[in-house]
Amino acid sequence: MTAAAPSTVTFDGRFARELAEMAIPWQAERVPDPRLLVLNEPLAAELGLDAAYLRGADGVLLLTGNLVPGGATPVAQAYAGHQFGWLAPRLGDGRALLLGEVTDAEGRLRDVHLKGSGRTPFARGGDGLAAVGPMLREFIVSEAMHAMGIPTTRSLAVVATGRPVLRERMLPGAVLTRVASSHLRVGSFQYARATGDIDLLRRLADHAIARHFPGAAEAGNPYVALLQSVIAVQASLVARWMLVGFVHGVMNTDNMTISGETIDYGPCAFMDAFDPAAVYSSIDETGRYAYRNQPVVAEWNLTRLAESLVPLFHDEQEQAVVLAQESLAAFRRQYSAAWSAGLQAKLGLPGDLDDDVASPLVDELLSLVQAGRADHTVFFRSLAEAARGRSARVRSLLADPAAFDAWAARWSALGPDADAMDRVNPAYIPRNHLVEEALDAATAGDLDPFMRLLEAVTSPYDDRPELERYAAAAPKDFGPYRTFCGT
Ligand code: AMP
Ligand code: MG
Repeated sequence: MTAAAPSTVTFDGRFARELAEMAIPWQAERVPDPRLLVLNEPLAAELGLDAAYLRGADGVLLLTGNLVPGGATPVAQAYAGHQFGWLAPRLGDGRALLLGEVTDAEGRLRDVHLKGSGRTPFARGGDGLAAVGPMLREFIVSEAMHAMGIPTTRSLAVVATGRPVLRERMLPGAVLTRVASSHLRVGSFQYARATGDIDLLRRLADHAIARHFPGAAEAGNPYVALLQSVIAVQASLVARWMLVGFVHGVMNTDNMTISGETIDYGPCAFMDAFDPAAVYSSIDETGRYAYRNQPVVAEWNLTRLAESLVPLFHDEQEQAVVLAQESLAAFRRQYSAAWSAGLQAKLGLPGDLDDDVASPLVDELLSLVQAGRADHTVFFRSLAEAARGRSARVRSLLADPAAFDAWAARWSALGPDADAMDRVNPAYIPRNHLVEEALDAATAGDLDPFMRLLEAVTSPYDDRPELERYAAAAPKDFGPYRTFCGT
C-alpha cells in the first residue's frame, strides 16, 4: 500500500537512486497487530513528522513499513563486514529496510530506517525479525547517548508487531524506526570495493562526501580528505565512548559508520566497576571488543576503510598506499588528544594542561578507581563533590582513601571547576541492571519502568533527588553481566 506522505514531509530515495547496485527494493513483512510502544516526539518534530499522525492507525503502519509514504523506495542496503576479524563479503540488511531520506528542520538529510521488518534477500538463515526487548534497548541506549552529546543514530519509535519471535524462548516481536545521518558503513565501502567496479566505489565516495563532509569536495584530493574526515570523527567518537565507560560490544566493520555516529546497539553495555578488560558480549570469547581495545579496533577498522578507498587515491598504487598510511597515522594522535582533553574536562580542568602534568594525574586516578573496582559513573559524578570540599563519598568508593587524598591535593591545586564537571559527568546512564529490569517488564507488557528510565537518562546531567535509585551503582549481587547477540 502506498499513501500520501504525512503532513509536509517528502521522502526521497537518494541512496536507492544513486547507488542502485547496493540497494534491493523490498517490502516490509505484513504486521498482524501493530501497537505503538514508544514514540520520540521531539525527534518526530525535528523531522517534520506529525506526532498525532504517527500515533494514528496510518502512522503506526508507516512505522512498520506496512504503508509506504509517497516518494519512498524502501530498499535493503548491501554491505560487507569484518565480523570478529573475518570478512563476510555479503552481509547487508537481513532484517532492515531503508525507507528513504527526509530533510529535517535544519535542512540536513536524515535516513528513516526500519529494523525488524522481515526477511530480505540478505537474511541468510535469519528470521528477519526483532523482539520488543532488544528494540527498546536500542531506543533507550541511543537516546541516552544523544542526551550525553555523543554522536549516534536516533530512535523514532518502537512498534510491537503482534507477531511472536522465537529466540531462546518465544518473545513479542517489534520494529524499531531508526534515524541516522546515513547508514553508510565501513562495510559499505568494502562491499563496493569487492565488486571491482571502481565507478561504483567512486559514486559511493562522492555520495558520502556530499552527505557528510562537503568540505572534502574542495580538497586537493577529495577521497583522501574523505578518509581523513572519517578517521577524525571516529577518533573523537571512540574517545567519547571511553570517557563514559561505554562498551559497544560488536565493533565489526559493518557496525562502524562513515558519519561518526554510534550504530547498532546489540550487546553493548556501560561499565559498572571500572575495568579496562570489561567485555559483556557472550559471543566475544577472546575479548576482541573489550573496553580497552576499542581504540585499537577502531584503527583496525579504519585501515579496512583505507584499503577499500586506495584505488581512488592515486593512479600509482605505491603512492596511494603512502597517502593511506599517512592519513591513518593521524588516528592515534587525534584519539589521544580527544581522550586527554575529555578526561581533563571530567576532572574539571581547562583541558590545556601540559601532558607531563595531565598524563600522570589521569593515570594515577584511573589506577585508584580500578583497584577499588569503583563504579565508573558514580565515581566521576561524586568527584565534583570532592571539588566542592566534600570528599567523604568519593573516598568511600576507593580501596585506598589515603592514596586518593594525596592525589586530590595535587588536583585541587589546579582549581577544578565542580559545576563544569557536572556538565560532563552524567548522573544517569542506562545502567545494566535498570535496563534489564525495564526490558523484562516491557516484554511482560508493563512499559512504566522503561518510561521512567528513559526520563532519567535523557536528562543525564540534571540531579533529581527523586531519581536517586537511577543514579546508584548496581546492587552487589548483580552480575557478572552478559549480553547476547541473539537480538
Ligand atoms: P548485527 O550483528 O545486528 O550488526 O547484524 C549482522 C548481520 O546479520 C546483518 O547483516 C544483519 O542484517 C543480520 N541479521 C541479524 N539478525 C538477523 C535476523 N534475525 N534475521 C536476518 N538477518 C539478521
Ligand atoms: Mg549491524
